[in-house]
Amino acid sequence: MRETEKKIKELREKLTYHSERYYNDDAPEIEDYEYDMMMRELKKLEEEFPEYDTPDSPTKKVGGKADNTFESVVHTVRMESLQDAFSKDELRDFNNRVADSVSDAEFVIEPKIDGLSVSLEYRDGLFFRGSTRGNGDIGEDVSANLRVIHNVPLKLKEPVPYIEVRGEVYMPKKSFLKVVDRQILNDEKPFKNPRNAAAGSLRQKDSSAAAERGLDIFIFNIQQIEDKTLNSHKDSLDYLKQLGFNTVPFYKKVDTIEKAISEIDKIGEERGNLEFDIDGAVIKVDNFSQREILGSTAKYPKWAIAFKYPPEEKQTKLIDIEIAVGRTGVLTPTAVLESVHLAGTTVSRATLHNQDFINEKGIAIGDIVTVRKAGDIIPEVLCVNEHNSSETYKFPTVCPSCGQQVIRENNEAAIRCINPDCPAQLLRNLIHFCSRDAMDIEGLGPAIIETFVNEGLIKNTSDIYNLDYEKIASLDGFKETSAGNIKKSVEKSKKNDLSKLIFALGIRNIGAKAGKLLADKFRDMDSIMNADAEEILSIDGYGQVMAESVVKYFSNPSSKELIEKLKACGVNMLSETEIKDERFKDMTFVLTGTLPTLKRSEASKIIESFGGKTSSSVSKKTTFVLAGEEAGSKLDKANKLGIQIIDENEFMGMIK
Ligand code: NAD
Repeated sequence: MRETEKKIKELREKLTYHSERYYNDDAPEIEDYEYDMMMRELKKLEEEFPEYDTPDSPTKKVGGKADNTFESVVHTVRMESLQDAFSKDELRDFNNRVADSVSDAEFVIEPKIDGLSVSLEYRDGLFFRGSTRGNGDIGEDVSANLRVIHNVPLKLKEPVPYIEVRGEVYMPKKSFLKVVDRQILNDEKPFKNPRNAAAGSLRQKDSSAAAERGLDIFIFNIQQIEDKTLNSHKDSLDYLKQLGFNTVPFYKKVDTIEKAISEIDKIGEERGNLEFDIDGAVIKVDNFSQREILGSTAKYPKWAIAFKYPPEEKQTKLIDIEIAVGRTGVLTPTAVLESVHLAGTTVSRATLHNQDFINEKGIAIGDIVTVRKAGDIIPEVLCVNEHNSSETYKFPTVCPSCGQQVIRENNEAAIRCINPDCPAQLLRNLIHFCSRDAMDIEGLGPAIIETFVNEGLIKNTSDIYNLDYEKIASLDGFKETSAGNIKKSVEKSKKNDLSKLIFALGIRNIGAKAGKLLADKFRDMDSIMNADAEEILSIDGYGQVMAESVVKYFSNPSSKELIEKLKACGVNMLSETEIKDERFKDMTFVLTGTLPTLKRSEASKIIESFGGKTSSSVSKKTTFVLAGEEAGSKLDKANKLGIQIIDENEFMGMIK
């Protein structure tokens, strides 16, 4: 008995830990399948030993986050989870349970989109609020980030007095690969799969950042509706389409469980070819009065079940290990594999993460390994099946690009080349420098930069501003017009705000937002270069590591030389948001609703130009809430906290 109790405790602790990594950090450490199997084991033990069952067990809770980063939304209709099945027999058991309570049930089958569950609410046909599932009862208000998703209609085709729908926000595979490429280019930790990427992106405080990630949505349920009676799920999906929603694709109604299973097989076969990730298929009882009879448990409805497809795995030979050098010098290993067909695509490369991962699995060239597609997209080596050699692969001790000694710093997992003149890093740095969030030089994409480096036109970053356009026009594939266009965008980039230049320099730990904070505080490049870590630390949002990174970067003579060269070429070294006076110093504004004339971005700029700050959530620290039409829950919170609410007119009066 003691053993059982211990096991239950251990499983609960593990599940709680992994649930936090998954829902709160968007960075799972184990595969979903492993998590699901632990959950099953716990459920089984709790059923067998009810004396150890507790109402707060992970088996009874809908996992999710509702912290205070965003406003809370109380769901009037609970956002439930789904019971799961891993075999066809479990689906037949589900059918038997349904048949025990209702007769002749018909089912609707839908793909189970691997994303993040959200609720969208409309009043008189207009979108007014969207929230995450959270713990099922309380979610987070992510309206601003949902508004920027193209397939979230802001106005419905009919002015329904009130409707709440439920859907899944997801990141299409194409967008996911782009986001991950960018993260790898910036030596950031890439998202593990599209689900985590979608969840991480939807919780961005800055909705423009969320917009850039290319999120999309499928709607699969009406949670509540006024002035309309619908009798079945299929009818409600048809009606959702009519209202202008992007409903879950290829849903199908069938009248037996065997037909449902065959639909699930069909969806499974298509899985690798879809543009989005699915982790299963859902069977739902179609008729609403039957659903009512069947009811729900604390966690999920008894009228639906999700069939989870097992992760596809294959064995193959590891032919080679390639080492690439990233922008900040990090060496990343990739396994070159004998091609295998896996989850709809041919796989010939897989990530090996770092030396620790290789050591842990004991991987060597020539081994037979098992590969799996994590989140069905990026293949990874799962384990070694047959060792070719007893010697585990060791990273080179010198950089494969420049030949200089590589190092491993302060217990970091990464091994780096720290030679500032390393050609592989130069190329990555140039690509980053010209990219959209950085200097935004249209026409200077990765392939063209590589050509220019190979042609000897660019030897260091400042050469971008001294390009030989005559030579470019004479290159294969270029003409005078294309060379002229590049020249135009290079010239245009000279006028960029200082914040873009700082980000473009690729200082370690300094992203676009941190670049802006630095530019806002110091206003010009010289002041930043002369600042010490303490001064930089006084910026709200900066920590010790970031401050030290800035100081370290500018203490390097080659960085100073680069800035001098850029200055000489006429690149702007000043911050654009000029502080007019500091009347809003130490004040924080929260903007909500639609203002009559000003865009939110314009209002924010004005506030910053008078030394104030903006924040997206109301707290005790908020000075004013600037509210427009359709302002939502932020107003209630401001009223509760006694924070002054102003309209655009009053705001205009304050800035006269
Ligand atoms: P779930 O993902 O298994 O199923 C419920 C969800 O499916 C709903 O919230 C809904 O939004 C979504 N869904 C997608 N398409 C749907 C459709 N057509 N109809 C209805 N719903 C649809 O359950 P969950 O509670 O959200 O999450 C549990 C899952 O998360 C587990 O299966 C587990 O694999 C994973 N998880 C993994 C880890 C980890 O460490 N890897 C940790 C925690 C949870």
